[in-house]
Amino acid sequence: MKNNQKIAPADRLLDPERYPNLIASPVLLTKREIEVFYKLFSKEAFWPVIFSFADKVKFNHSYWEQYVEVNRQFAEKAAAEADSGATVWIHEYNLWMVPGILRQLRPDVKIGFFHHTSFPPADIFNIIPWRKEIIGSMLQCDYIGFHIPRYVENFVDVLKSHAPVKVISRQPCGERFLTYSCALGVDTMTREIDVSGKRVRLGAHPVGVDMNNIRTIFQQPATRQQIHALKGKVKGKKIVLSVERLDYVKGPLEKIYAYQSFLEQHPEYHGKVELINICTPPASGMKIYDKVLLELEQAIGRINGKYARMDWVPIRFFFRSVPFEEVITYYAIADIAWITPLRDGLNLVAKEYVAVQGLTKEKDGVLIVSEFAGVSVELPYAIRTNPYDTRELVHGLEQAFSLEPEDRRLRMERLFEVVDYYDIDEWSSGFIRELEDTAENSGIPAVH
Ligand code: UDP
Repeated sequence: MKNNQKIAPADRLLDPERYPNLIASPVLLTKREIEVFYKLFSKEAFWPVIFSFADKVKFNHSYWEQYVEVNRQFAEKAAAEADSGATVWIHEYNLWMVPGILRQLRPDVKIGFFHHTSFPPADIFNIIPWRKEIIGSMLQCDYIGFHIPRYVENFVDVLKSHAPVKVISRQPCGERFLTYSCALGVDTMTREIDVSGKRVRLGAHPVGVDMNNIRTIFQQPATRQQIHALKGKVKGKKIVLSVERLDYVKGPLEKIYAYQSFLEQHPEYHGKVELINICTPPASGMKIYDKVLLELEQAIGRINGKYARMDWVPIRFFFRSVPFEEVITYYAIADIAWITPLRDGLNLVAKEYVAVQGLTKEKDGVLIVSEFAGVSVELPYAIRTNPYDTRELVHGLEQAFSLEPEDRRLRMERLFEVVDYYDIDEWSSGFIRELEDTAENSGIPAVH
C-alpha cells in the first residue's frame, strides 16, 4: 500500500471501474515455482500442520528452499514498491518468511500479517522443522492478526516454547466471542508481547462477508426468480445444505456417514429430507485429494443406491464450483446449513448462509456449525456440533429439525445482527486501524 497515491499505468490497474485505486504489481513465478511453492510444499508440509493432521505431513527440505525463494521474491517486490514508512499487509501462511526478509530490506515500513487459516497448538506447530525461522520472521511484524482469540493464544504458546515471552497486555474476550463450554473458546487474549526487546501486537479479526454484494445479488430479479423456482422443486422436502471445498480438513466423509446414520435411525424422514452437497474441486493436479474424493463418491453412491426412490434422492452431490450467485439461491431455500469441518480457520459459508437467511422474509433457517470451525465462537446462536462424533452430528440434525419456528427465527435474527455488523469492511478497517496505530485507536480495554 502506498502512502501517496501515484498514477498507475493502465496495465497495473486490476479493475479500474470497481477499484480505481487498486494497483497490482505482479510477482512473476515460473510454473515449477507455483507447483512446488503452492501445490506441493504449502499443501503437503504446512496445511496438515495448520489443521492438526500431523499424520498427513510431508517435509521436503529442497521444497522449503524454494518456498523461501518465492517468499524472497514477494518481499523484494514489496520493498521496491513501498514508500518510505509505508504500511505493508501480508496475508497467509504461504508468505510466513516475507516479514523477516522485508524487515532486513526495509526497516522503515510497518508490517501487518493476517492468518486466514487456523493456527495450531504449540506441540503441533513445532513439528515443522523450520519453526525457528518462521517464528523469527513473524516476530518482525508490528501487528499479527488471527481469526479468533484461541489462535492468538496458540501462537503465543508457540513463542513461549522458543524464548521467554513477556506479556505486555491482555484483553477479555467475552463481549465478542464465546469463552467457555466450547472447543475453541478462551476467556482472555494476549494483545501485546515483548520477546527479547521486540514488541509485537496481536489481535483477533474474524473475516466478514461482503454484505453489500450479497444484498445486491439477493435483490436482483434473476435471483428472486431462481429462488422461487428452486422452492417449487423442493416443495414438501426439508433441505439440508453443505457447501465446501473438497478437503479432508472439512470432514466430508464424516458428514456423509452421519447422514447415513440419520437416515437409518429416522425412517420417518425418508422421502422428506434431502442433503444438497456442493463440493468444490481442488486446483487441478492436487493429487492429495484424490483418495478422499474416491471414498466420498463411493459412500454417496452406496447411500443413494440403498435409499433412492423415483421421487426422492437422499443426497444431491454437485462436484463442481457453483457460481456465487447460485450458491446464494441455495442458502435462501435451505432449512438447515450443516457446516461440519473437522477443522476450519473460520468458515465463510456459515456466515453467508446467515447473511442470506437474514434477508429472507421467513428468516427461519437453522445453522449447525462444527465446534472446530473458528466461526463457532463468533456465532453463539448456532447449534454447535462435534464432527468427530457421529452421534453428535446426528443429534445436531435432530435438534435443528425439532426447533420451534419462533425459536428458529429468533436465533437467525441474532445471528444476522453479528454477521451484518462485522462484515468485510469492518474486518479490513479494524485490522488496518490496529496496524496503523496502537491502543488509542482500538477502543479495546487492555488488562495489564
Ligand atoms: N463457494 C462458491 N462456489 C462453490 C462453493 C463455494 O462460490 O461452489 C464459495 C463460498 O460461497 C465461500 C467460499 O467459496 O465464499 C468458501 O469459503 P470458506 O471460508 O467457507 O472455505 P475455504 O474454502 O476458504 O476453506
